[in-house]
Parts: sequence; C-alpha cells; structure tokens
Amino acid sequence: MNTIYLTSSDEDIKKAAEIIKAGGLVAFPTETVYGLGGNALNPSASKKIYEAKGRPSDNPLIAHISKTEELISLVTDFPENARKLATAIWPGPMTMVLHKKDIVPNETTGGLNTVAIRCPANETARRLIELSGVPIAAPSANTSGRPSPTRWQHVANDLDGKIDAIIMGEPCIGGIESTIVDMTEELPMILRPGLITPERVSEVLGLDCDYDPAIKGPASPDMIPKAPGMKYKHYAPKAQMKLFAGDREKALDVMRKEQAELEAKGFNVVSIAYESGDDAARNLFGDLRAADAHGEDYILCYALSLEESINYSVMNRMLKSAGYNIVEV
Ligand code: AMP
Ligand code: MG
Repeated sequence: MNTIYLTSSDEDIKKAAEIIKAGGLVAFPTETVYGLGGNALNPSASKKIYEAKGRPSDNPLIAHISKTEELISLVTDFPENARKLATAIWPGPMTMVLHKKDIVPNETTGGLNTVAIRCPANETARRLIELSGVPIAAPSANTSGRPSPTRWQHVANDLDGKIDAIIMGEPCIGGIESTIVDMTEELPMILRPGLITPERVSEVLGLDCDYDPAIKGPASPDMIPKAPGMKYKHYAPKAQMKLFAGDREKALDVMRKEQAELEAKGFNVVSIAYESGDDAARNLFGDLRAADAHGEDYILCYALSLEESINYSVMNRMLKSAGYNIVEV
C-alpha cells in the first residue's frame, strides 16, 4: 500500500475524511499522542486497525467524537456525572467508559458491552471527525508494543505502507495517552492514569475517585485490569532501561558512575533526567524512540517522585518501558 502524506490544511483534512468514510485508515495528531483512525461504526475498519498495528483484538479501541452531543448515539445511558465531566474537561485528554448501544460493533470494543469515548482538544483531530461524519476509532498510531508516537515521523517509521494516509500535524503537547475514567459504576474510577488526575475528577464531581488497583504494579494473574490494554507489555524501547529513584543529586551521581562503567565495557548508554512530570510526559516516548534510533544499549533514567499525580501517570509508562527495573538510591 502507498501511504499518502497530508497537511493540516482544510483541503487535506477533507481528503482524509473521504478515506475514513470509505473504510480506510488515517493517522492524525491529537493533544495526547498520534491516533490511527478508522470509522468506529465499521467492523472492517476496526479490523484493519488491529492488523496495521499488530494489536491483539481483545484490546478495545477508543471512539473519538468532535462534540459531546455525538456521544448520545453511542451509549445507552449518559449519567449526570459523566455529563459533568464532559462539560468540565472536554475537549481534552480524558476518555470515559460507558455502556454501549448496539450500533457500536464488537470489533471496536473488543467484545465488551461498554465503549470508551473521548472528545480530543486538537483542532485537526476534531475537524477530521466532523468532516468524516462518524466517530473515529483511534488507538495510538504505533506498532503494538512500541513507544506511542508523539510526532508524525514516529508514525511514518512504524506504519508507512500499512495505512492509507498520515496527517503531518504538530508534535503532541501532552505526550502520554488519555486518562481513562470508568463511569459505569456509582463512583468514577481511573482505569489508565493520564494528564487529567483523580484530584481533578474529584473536584468536578465532588466524589472520591480512585485508581483501578490493577494499575499499580506488574500485572499478576489475580488482578485483571478493567482496561484490557493495561495488561500488555507496552512502550518498550529496544535498549535495556533502568530507573533510579530517590534524592535527585544522589541518583544522578549513581547514574553517572553506572554510565561510565557500562561505557568502559563498550556499551552505548544514554542518561535522562526530566525536570517535571509535564516535561517527562511530553518527551518520554520521543526520547525512547531516539535512543533506539541511535542504537543505545542502555537507557538510564531518573524516576520522578510519585507524590504528584502527573508524575504518577508518567511513571506508569516509564515502569512498563523499563520492565519494572527500578533501584532506590
Ligand atoms: P489506545 O487506543 O492504545 O490508547 O488504547 C485504548 C485503551 O483503552 C485500551 O487498551 C483499553 O485499555 C482501554 N479501553 C478501551 N475501551 C475500553 C472499555 N470499553 N472498557 C475499558 N477499557 C477500555
Ligand atoms: Mg496504544
């Protein structure tokens, strides 16, 4: 397949929308990561998404909408609390899980009777959805298991020749995938941590909001995450990654020594220390891809303190990238 490269001009977004309407796949920018989009109501488009990514078909897709009202046609019930969250946070990096109507095919939801829905803030994304006239199913536009794409070039590296088109939009400002909130129970629950924190959800609803306990550690057989994607090995760079937690100066010292020892043995090593959770979120996936492109054998990375929720969200990805290889300094 010859992948065509489009700009964010309205003329090009119209071309992309025609591809979506015809059942094809288009990668497009969002404020979180680049998405690989297809018509969420077309089972064959969803199947193509799984094929292009090499993604297991029980791992459901998020349906993207351009306005909150579009949610009504997809869910059996739009509870008051979900409405409040939509009003306060959409368009933005938050996905809500709600009970689905039959119109949403099982191919899109991985056989679940619920559907995950998000209204993204990125203008190009919303214009594409609007012109397509359908909700767009869009997982991250990477090969399954690789770090999520935060620039169109990352998408091209993974999916050129496998999808119809790539919109060459701006780099993603958020950098990690959306927060997923389960709204099917009495209390909201975070199924995947992201830039929208549980504190923010609590503040909007005046209710407690916890993390799904399965988020917290390596998946064990007795803890099945409610968000199926959380159980897969994710975000893995080719290089071996190791995290260093504790006092920043001390940790950086230990990292410098370890880097010198590894380099003395002939390995290529890169050390990374982010300034803040936002900095880490924006740059982590791109830095992991750059390390692979440079042929690094080891990535040594300073682990952010878990006290802030944003750090917690990024550390969720960093720990998976590192296969939970972390030392306390
Ligand atoms: P991605 O599209 O790569 O950001 O992954 C989407 C993730 O959303 C999946 O891996 C699931 O973990 C989660 N998800 C999608 N739909 C549902 C749902 N109906 N219930 C729970 N989690 C969902
Ligand atoms: Mg993904």
